[in-house]
Amino acid sequence: MDLTEVLLTEGKTIQREAVLELETLDYRFGRFRITEKSPVSLTVENAGEGKLILKGSTQLEVSVPCARCLEPVAVRLDIQLDLEMDAEDKDYIDGYNLNVDQLVHDEALLIWPERVLCREDCRGLCSVCGQNLNKGSCGCEPADLDPRMAKVLDIFSKFKEV
Ligand SMILES: [Zn+2]
Ligand SMILES: [Zn+2]
Repeated sequence: MDLTEVLLTEGKTIQREAVLELETLDYRFGRFRITEKSPVSLTVENAGEGKLILKGSTQLEVSVPCARCLEPVAVRLDIQLDLEMDAEDKDYIDGYNLNVDQLVHDEALLIWPERVLCREDCRGLCSVCGQNLNKGSCGCEPADLDPRMAKVLDIFSKFKEV
């Protein structure tokens, strides 16, 4: 996005729609595909003393695997940009050009959900055979919570109450 006009005039404000070229988001150890995006409507104000004030918003939809069953989940990210920036910020400004993609990318990572689940009660994968348990059970013995063991624990906790 061309900032020439706003960079050269103190007090100047411009409003633009910037089209995102961003196709993926890199977060921690993964790269996630953006499945939906809309243009960013952005206001940039030259606040004087080499400061720019940026405001804008956009929405992205990213495909992220469920933390339990690994099925892709469409995650909606509501990006709100509201920041003050140095006019010589090399991370985002190259000459007179604002790198809107980078700005949106970095903001998206800040609001990235802690844990993505396809649904609250996702049953995950069988730890023995890897079957997706949302699609039916596999008949394996559950490795961590054997029903007989659960009963023992139950008796044990009753015993303690006495
Ligand atoms: Zn799931
Ligand atoms: Zn299994």
